[in-house]
Amino acid sequence: MKLNDSVRYLKGVGPKKEKYLKSMGINNIKDLLLYFPRAYEDQSNIKPIRSLVAEEKQTSLVKFVEILEDRQIRRNLRITKFLVEDSSSSAIVSFFNNRFIKDTIKLNDLYVISGKVSIFNNAIQFTSPDFIEYKKYLGQRHIYPIYNLSKNISNKDISKMIDQVIDKNLFEESLSKGIIDKYKLMDKNESILNIHRPADRKAYIRAKQRLCFEEFLYFNINLLLIKNKNKNAEAYKIGFDEKINDFIESLDFELTQGQKNVLNEIFADLASGKKMNRLIQGDVGSGKTIVAIIAMYLCYLNGYQSSIMAPTEVLAKQHLNSFRQMLEKLGVKVELLVGSTSKKNRDRILNSVEIGEVDILIGTHALLNEDVKFKKLGLNVTDEQHRFGVMQRESFNTKVKNAHSLVMTATPIPRTLSLVLFNDLDISIIDTMPLNRKKITTMAINRLSLNRGLDFIKKEIDKGRQAYIITPLIEENSDLDLNSAIETFDSLRNNTFKNYKLALLHGRMTNQEKDEIMRAFEEGKIDILVSTTVIEVGINVKNASVILVYDAQRFGLAQLHQLRGRVGRGEHKSYCILYNSSNTDLSWKRMKVLEASNDGFYIADKDLELRGSGNVFGKEQSGFLDFKIADITKDLAIFKHAQIEAEKILEEDPDLTKAKNLGLKNKINQIYNESSPKILN
Ligand code: ADP
Ligand code: MG
Repeated sequence: MKLNDSVRYLKGVGPKKEKYLKSMGINNIKDLLLYFPRAYEDQSNIKPIRSLVAEEKQTSLVKFVEILEDRQIRRNLRITKFLVEDSSSSAIVSFFNNRFIKDTIKLNDLYVISGKVSIFNNAIQFTSPDFIEYKKYLGQRHIYPIYNLSKNISNKDISKMIDQVIDKNLFEESLSKGIIDKYKLMDKNESILNIHRPADRKAYIRAKQRLCFEEFLYFNINLLLIKNKNKNAEAYKIGFDEKINDFIESLDFELTQGQKNVLNEIFADLASGKKMNRLIQGDVGSGKTIVAIIAMYLCYLNGYQSSIMAPTEVLAKQHLNSFRQMLEKLGVKVELLVGSTSKKNRDRILNSVEIGEVDILIGTHALLNEDVKFKKLGLNVTDEQHRFGVMQRESFNTKVKNAHSLVMTATPIPRTLSLVLFNDLDISIIDTMPLNRKKITTMAINRLSLNRGLDFIKKEIDKGRQAYIITPLIEENSDLDLNSAIETFDSLRNNTFKNYKLALLHGRMTNQEKDEIMRAFEEGKIDILVSTTVIEVGINVKNASVILVYDAQRFGLAQLHQLRGRVGRGEHKSYCILYNSSNTDLSWKRMKVLEASNDGFYIADKDLELRGSGNVFGKEQSGFLDFKIADITKDLAIFKHAQIEAEKILEEDPDLTKAKNLGLKNKINQIYNESSPKILN
């Protein structure tokens, strides 16, 4: 068995499963072994019944005492209830539609049961828990991996496949002995074993540390290679022009001090003759777009083209509108290039970009395409950079050698973190909000108050405002979630909001459908936009004054803060209603953070503090950089060590040409350069 062997060679994988696995990115054994669990269920932590808490998955060691109930309630519903006890207390365990359960469970024997706990009529209840005889439990590992799944591949499927290859030591060691010894890291194969089948929590942590280190090492080497290349790179000199002042004066608002400071930094960079590599961090609504517009207008005044890349078509189109509205009357020609641009338009635009007729090109990833050629590109702006990888940013950089680069993000990354993470960039922060911004009033509600929340939306619409209703579609490819968005939409449209104009927006719609809906919403033809989080980044509709988020507890706080930023963008007092459909203390604590603060940085910190609880642990989605296993916010110490080692390696061998570093060079090429130009060759 080799790493490159297809998963087809595994027992239980036929042509169908092979296809499903492929769609999850699992083609060969290596992909499979690198398909790390999303989380773990830890059944090693046995709790006395008396100390169980509601709404969390927990594990207890109990004796099944008697059958309390075993009957057919309805034609397709059978319930079997047991009384169980331990030395601390007793509880009820129910199973549904399992007519054999009463013969399977042996009364008076000890079992370990594990499942979600609820409290009903003052009694502690387990509903359909996992159960295993205590005798068997003793001989097993108690930490179970939970994988990201697709509709046709179950957790068992993956576990069974992994069992066939997990102990074969298929990987070669990829870190040097020096590093392994210095940081006392687990070796590669052992770490792969323990990430899938941790013997205990400690083994898992050590495995994760080792894999994080490796991931961070590659990341840092790559970043340093980029940094070294860009250091002292020359770029066009773009000098200040008095017309910029006229333009700023013509705006219908005054720039904030934060915006002015950032602009001054940008002006100095652009005029320096050295390539600008600057990151602008500014909370949602701090007004980053106008900063980009001014910088790009300056390029135009100097005779250079500029471009801006946005993560979604919806956002790119919104930029097109604001850019045209502000700049076209000044003679600036602005065009849009996105995936859905027709062939005919595309050819025309590409041609006029190449001969220099277009001054500003707005687009999505489509701008990265090889056939986009500029006559004289002075500046590229990347908006909402957290949505792009470092390499996408860099591949554009490589393509347009003498152009300056500006990246903008609303992700509130603590400063200590952004310094290491964006090691290759200078950082500017817009730390002031426009004066006319009013605090968005945020209310977390439970199921009982949902109708009041919906009524509140009606009142706002009756005043002439518009609203967003967000439903979770957390995994893009889960049909279940999509159904919930569509169902919510149908029920709102047919009941509560019968007399209002509603539209639905989700990620599976074609771009054209999305555009039409967004346009109608912007023009006020739709009262309520029911949407998944495709709406999350950047959308700016000033008349929208209320946003309601269903199942708000399922979102990250930073993400909720982003969503909330969709309202309060104009003169109207705005509201955010967070419908928390769960009942855990933790979820209410998290909602409280948003009620109390409008400060993205504060919220991001709190989010970290409150994360993780109960018996499930694993990778948290930090949301702004896609590390496979590492979480930069939690693993910062490892990151720093990896950074030091990366610096050492490159100091000794700046282009990774020495024989001992060839493996490393290949790895980095493989990881980072699959879809972008080779940085190392
Ligand atoms: P973000 O930083 O989240 O990208 P935008 O650039 O979309 O924010 O700006 C949000 C809104 O604020 C826009 O409608 C913009 O015109 C407006 N805006 C920007 N700067 C100011 C300012 N200094 N004063 C008042 N409104 C502003
Ligand atoms: Mg923006």
